Amino acid sequence: MKITGTDIYITKDGPFYPGKHQMLFIRINTDEGFYGFGETIVIGRGIPAVCELLKLYSKTLIGEDPFNTESIWQRLHGISTGDPVTVSAYSAIDIALWDIKGKALNVPVYKLLGGKLRDRIEVYLSHIEFGWPDTKQHLFTADDYYRVAKAAKEAGYKAVKANFIRMSKDGGRSIVGPYTRYTKAMLAEVEERVAAVREGLGDDGEIILENNAATGVDAAVAIANATQKHNIWFYEEPVTTDYPADMKLVADRVNIPIATGERLCARWQFLPFLENHSTQIVQPDLCNTGGITEGKKIADLADIFHAGVALHVCGGPFTHAAAVHLEAAIPNFVTHEHHVHYLNEENAIYGKYKYDAVDGFVEVPKLPGLGQDLAEEAISLMDKISIN
Ligand code: MG
Repeated sequence: MKITGTDIYITKDGPFYPGKHQMLFIRINTDEGFYGFGETIVIGRGIPAVCELLKLYSKTLIGEDPFNTESIWQRLHGISTGDPVTVSAYSAIDIALWDIKGKALNVPVYKLLGGKLRDRIEVYLSHIEFGWPDTKQHLFTADDYYRVAKAAKEAGYKAVKANFIRMSKDGGRSIVGPYTRYTKAMLAEVEERVAAVREGLGDDGEIILENNAATGVDAAVAIANATQKHNIWFYEEPVTTDYPADMKLVADRVNIPIATGERLCARWQFLPFLENHSTQIVQPDLCNTGGITEGKKIADLADIFHAGVALHVCGGPFTHAAAVHLEAAIPNFVTHEHHVHYLNEENAIYGKYKYDAVDGFVEVPKLPGLGQDLAEEAISLMDKISIN
């Protein structure tokens, strides 16, 4: 089998974060009629740059055997230095190649990764502070957080994640940075929101605290200490991943497991956080860390350090599908990120097949390949660039 070309689909505007994030899918075509879809996400505004790289990489793929995922990965990684734009580009290619392999062999991708260790994937409802399910308005007050946490519980979710510091309670955006000092009043506001989520979820629910790398060490520690009485499952990106020693400083001063990794590209960038034992849960995003090929290696690397894996999943239908296949096949799976943006109807329409959560779980796709395709009605919503 030979690759004959690619089609790059890019949303005209970013449905996830209008004006900020666009969705980009790549379809890789072959001379035997099989095709595969991959998706990329780069944190920030890098999608147009990834698109340009994919045009270049597509030309080098023509004539390649799509089963050569390892050699293609090595070649494309070898010309990068692990920068997020380059890695995001070949992540999309890698995911699409695994889709082709599964379809050609008539098996779901998880079977090519060693088979299933679980039939259903437990999920958590992610970033409820963006608003869910009836509104896309940010949550501001503790009452807002209570209402959404209670709705999540009633919908069957057993865990939720929220950024409790992004918005101020008077309706504005909180201005925080690595040098922001958290005052007693600011800590009380965060604690009040976490308490509201605990009340909405009940004692059996799990709460994930997310700082999106916006705080420095002292503020991250202060927030953890102010909220840990509400039984926090894990603490995501308390500080930036620029400097692994900072994560270790936080880990040494709080009693909540640390999770991080959505901005890290390929296994070498994860190693310092595992070696310094600051991170108990790694969160690679398959669409910016090197695809399924690299995601499996990162999971195995984390396993050596007895660290769990909770993939970062904040993209569209192929991000979701790729993640679920890997999560089904690894021993150290922790939980799946079910993002409120992914669930919004204007985003969900891009996938042909729906994998909604039922009682807090999603099914592992049974169809060959990823078990996902681009919905017919979504094609007109995207620009298409063909490379043959
Ligand atoms: Mg995050």
